[in-house]
Amino acid sequence: MTEITTSRAERPAKDAVKDESMLKQKAMMAGHYDRLTSATERGEKVCATFVPGNLNELIMCFDFANNLPEVNAIQNGLRKKSGRYVMESEKLGHSEDVCTYVKSDIGMMAMGNLAPNGKPLPSPDVLLLSYTGCFTFMKWFELLREQYQCETIMLHTPYEGDGWVTENMRNYMVKQLKEEVIPKLERVSGVKFDIDRLRENLKRSAVAEDDLVYVLQSAKNKPSPIDAYFGGIYYIGPIFGAFRGTDDAIDYYRTLRAEVQDRLDNGRGPVTPEGDMGEEKYRLVTEGPPNYTSFRDFWKMFYDEGAVVVASSYTKVGGVYDFGFRHDPERPLESLAEYCLGVYTNRSLPQRVDMLVDYVNEYEADGLLINSIKSCNSFSAGQLLIMREVEKRTGKPAAFVESDLVDPRYFSAANIKNRMESYFQMVDQKRAGVKGAAA
Ligand code: SF4
Repeated sequence: MTEITTSRAERPAKDAVKDESMLKQKAMMAGHYDRLTSATERGEKVCATFVPGNLNELIMCFDFANNLPEVNAIQNGLRKKSGRYVMESEKLGHSEDVCTYVKSDIGMMAMGNLAPNGKPLPSPDVLLLSYTGCFTFMKWFELLREQYQCETIMLHTPYEGDGWVTENMRNYMVKQLKEEVIPKLERVSGVKFDIDRLRENLKRSAVAEDDLVYVLQSAKNKPSPIDAYFGGIYYIGPIFGAFRGTDDAIDYYRTLRAEVQDRLDNGRGPVTPEGDMGEEKYRLVTEGPPNYTSFRDFWKMFYDEGAVVVASSYTKVGGVYDFGFRHDPERPLESLAEYCLGVYTNRSLPQRVDMLVDYVNEYEADGLLINSIKSCNSFSAGQLLIMREVEKRTGKPAAFVESDLVDPRYFSAANIKNRMESYFQMVDQKRAGVKGAAA
């Protein structure tokens, strides 16, 4: 674990020494992109698929390398390359309101389709869309299909409109897996499906999922040893991406859990890009994706004020594990279906409200902060209603800031900082009011 002896205010902004889990993840991501960009010369087939509802364990059964377009967009956002890709895409006719993950992807393809390692990404052999609630995914894949003209498979996940999963919904998905998805993946890959191989992959997923949940729930402690939004985005990387079901993921989450345990044992708060956070003054729950092009500036607005995010909905977008779901090797196809049905983007508005209310109460948060993303309708629709409901049911203050995913034009640091400062004042007043009433 990193030893930091000076206070944050005394240090110039710079990269903190990295924990073992961070180095491990960096090496895993580099390996992932090396595998992808050399797939064609090694004769490996490529499957493009999305994060929410991704069937990584199944894809691995057919020896595909897995390319996730949102992960590419996020990498380009963090590396500050997405801005020109978004503009390129607008030049090609895509409207300002289109999800900027899509525009970053389309712009990247138009400008050489380079992976973060600087090498060209391969054309996919198959597009596998597990449709889990966001309509944009469907339109995005239509664009990719037009571009690549390859086999396209759609797994339709029924929306959890009533707030629960019925037997029919599960059976409908298993039927699609058996009759559509698996036969097509067999045909494109030339590899025969082996259900025991799938079971082994699912077994590994469940081990990593247990450790991830331990890490996320460690934020119930005071001080929280993790930041469950900004830090949480790193923690979900391997399991939401191309590593669920691998030994690498088991290793990563075991290492991460040990580091978090060590922080807990020593009463230490989260790691930030500038070292340990220092005193925990505010505990927040967040709703909505972050901004990736100004990720560090946004995070700094929190940790400079001693605000730690103890739970977030965004870290559930590729799977909700903290209410008990695990991939189950004894019920392989049913379990893949239930995973897709339960991801955050497939949940109804009342379910989202229940989840956030639960988080505010269970994690003893001071309130809810919503980052409303201009170009993400899937998250942003209904957020004002979510805000009012959570306030009403928890009695804790909520606030709203606005930015975008990977479009740097929609991050106004001064505006966001102002709103955050007013929000922290609101929390202080609320606390003073509670204390006054108790006296
Ligand atoms: S959920 Fe939001 S960010 Fe993701 S594809 Fe849909 S619109 Fe884009």
